Amino acid sequence: MAGNPADYDKYGILLIADKVICGFGRTGNWFGSQTVGITPHIMTIAKGLSSGYAPIGGSVVCDEVANVIAQGEFNHGYTYSGHPVAAAVALENLRILEDEKVVEHVRDVAGPYLKKKWEALADHPLVGEAKISGLMASIALTPNKATRAKFAAEAGTVGWVCRDICFGNDLIMRHVGDRMIVSPPLVITPEEIDILIERATRSLDQAFDKIKAQGLYVAA
Ligand SMILES: *Cc1c(COP(=O)(O)O)cnc(C)c1O
Repeated sequence: MAGNPADYDKYGILLIADKVICGFGRTGNWFGSQTVGITPHIMTIAKGLSSGYAPIGGSVVCDEVANVIAQGEFNHGYTYSGHPVAAAVALENLRILEDEKVVEHVRDVAGPYLKKKWEALADHPLVGEAKISGLMASIALTPNKATRAKFAAEAGTVGWVCRDICFGNDLIMRHVGDRMIVSPPLVITPEEIDILIERATRSLDQAFDKIKAQGLYVAA
């Protein structure tokens, strides 16, 4: 968490928030800053800006910052800055997000539905904790639920085993160390979330068997 935003103003510190993942509805609001109640001076944006359909990124700056940079003109840029093809795709993507109320779907339907099911994964013997914000979720794997201990094996060893099993079960659940992460499409339906959870549970069961068989179910 970034701390109290008032402090940034109080001490004249610029707050830059990376919205590359948590922007454009991922957390159930347009920007993750709204979800955690902070007001950054600068936001970096990409990915969700075009839903990944065209390569485009950018920085959003507040007037206070823009007025310093803009001495007559807001001078900045790269060769392909503001490229019309990528910009057109991004604009169309934003129009669809608004018209089809995709952010509201994450906030009111898909997010709450996944949250209930996702947090129940914490009951699995291999899972130490489950975390979720909107449609961005993770579970930490552990060899000891009570203490949430790390594995004796190098970080990521068990996560990789689990990830491989997930991919084999047609579930894109990646790993960061021994934490498993999902970031499903914003338009996912409750029925599809049921499929996601079924595959995740099956994958965890299989991963549990495999890491025990491989002698990896050992705390550090
Ligand atoms: C992908 C990603 C980036 C990198 O963005 P680039 O446009 O490739 O520089 C930065 N931050 C987060 C959180 C990301 O997911």
